[in-house]
Amino acid sequence: MPVNKSNSLGEFGLIDWIRQQAGHGDHLSLGIGDDCSIQPQQGEKDLLTSTDLFIEGVHFRREWCSWFDLGRKAAAVNISDIAAMGGTPQSLFLGIGRPREMSDEEIEELISGFLAEIKIHGAVLAGGDTCGSPGSLLISVTVQGSVAATEAICREGASYGDAIYVSGCLGDSALALQLLEKGQQPDPYLAGRFHSPTPRVALGQELSRRQLATAMLDVSDGLLADLDHILSASGVGAELDLVKIPLSERFQSSLSEDFSLIDLALAGGEDYELVFTSPLKDLDRQIEMEHPVTQIGMISPEPGLRVRQKSGELYYCQRGGFDHFS
Ligand code: ADP
Ligand code: MG
Repeated sequence: MPVNKSNSLGEFGLIDWIRQQAGHGDHLSLGIGDDCSIQPQQGEKDLLTSTDLFIEGVHFRREWCSWFDLGRKAAAVNISDIAAMGGTPQSLFLGIGRPREMSDEEIEELISGFLAEIKIHGAVLAGGDTCGSPGSLLISVTVQGSVAATEAICREGASYGDAIYVSGCLGDSALALQLLEKGQQPDPYLAGRFHSPTPRVALGQELSRRQLATAMLDVSDGLLADLDHILSASGVGAELDLVKIPLSERFQSSLSEDFSLIDLALAGGEDYELVFTSPLKDLDRQIEMEHPVTQIGMISPEPGLRVRQKSGELYYCQRGGFDHFS
C-alpha cells in the first residue's frame, strides 16, 4: 500500500493540527497558540510558561558567536516570550544535548552566559536535563513567569481603530545575519543586536500594569508574519506605513545603498522587539515609556495586512516570514 509522505503542512499548519489534537486543559485559561500558556493560580497572579528549541545549524552556528553569547541568547529569546505577555520571568529549565567533541570549558561558557542573562532579569535556573547528542548541539529552554491575574496581554484582543506600535528598531539582527552568511563581519552594533538581543521585559510589564495594550507579541519570525498572528487571532486586518518602520542609523545607512534591505526590517526576524496594539493614539508622543515605541500603522476592518508607501501605493515585501519547514 502506498504510504502518504506529504510534507506540506508548514510550521504553523502543523501547530494548528497539534492544537486540534491536544484539546484544552481546564486548569489553563490559555493553551497552545500564544507566546506563553496561562495558568491561573490561587491568589493574584497567573503563571506563564513557554518553551523554545535551539539547534546548531538551524538557530546558530558555533563559528559565528562565543559560547557565552549563545547561552545568553538562548535565555534571552525565551524570556522575550514572557515579556510578550507583560510578565516577569522567574524560573528557567535548561536541557542540553551535548555533542561528543564539545569540551567542558565550552559547555561551562555556554551555561555561564545563560546564567548571566537570567540573573539580569532576576530569574533562576530551576532544573533541566543533560545528555549526549550523536549530532549537533541541542538546547531546549523552558521559562516560567508571573503576571497579575487576567492582565497578560495575548495575541487576541486587537480591534478596529487600534493603533499598532513596535518597540526599538527592526531589521538590525537580520542585517547582521545576512552579512555573516556572506562571510562578512557585522560591526559591533549589528553583531550585538544579533548575538545578544535584549528582551523588552520592563516595557511589557509597563504595558500590562497600565493596561495600555489590547494585543501583543514579540517579533521572532519577522514583523509581518508575527503581526499576522495578532490579526488572525483577533479577526481583524491592518495597514502599516512603510516610512514609519523604526530603523537604526546603522540600518538606514545600509538602506540608502540598497533599498531592498527594507524587507529585512519587515520580515527578517530575530528582532525580539514587542509589537502591540492600543486604542490610544500617539502613545509614542504622549507617554514616556520604559523603552521607545513607534506607531507604525492602524488596525483596519478589512482582513489582511497591507504596507503602504509614502506615495500611497502598496508595498509588496519579497520575503516571507520564517517557517521552519519551508
Ligand atoms: P514563539 O515564536 O512565540 O516562540 P511559536 O511560533 O514557536 O511561538 O509557537 C506558536 C504556538 O504554538 C505557541 O503557543 C507554542 O507553544 C505552540 N507550539 C509550537 N510547537 C508546538 C508543539 N510541538 N506542541 C505543542 N505546541 C506547540
Ligand atoms: Mg513569541
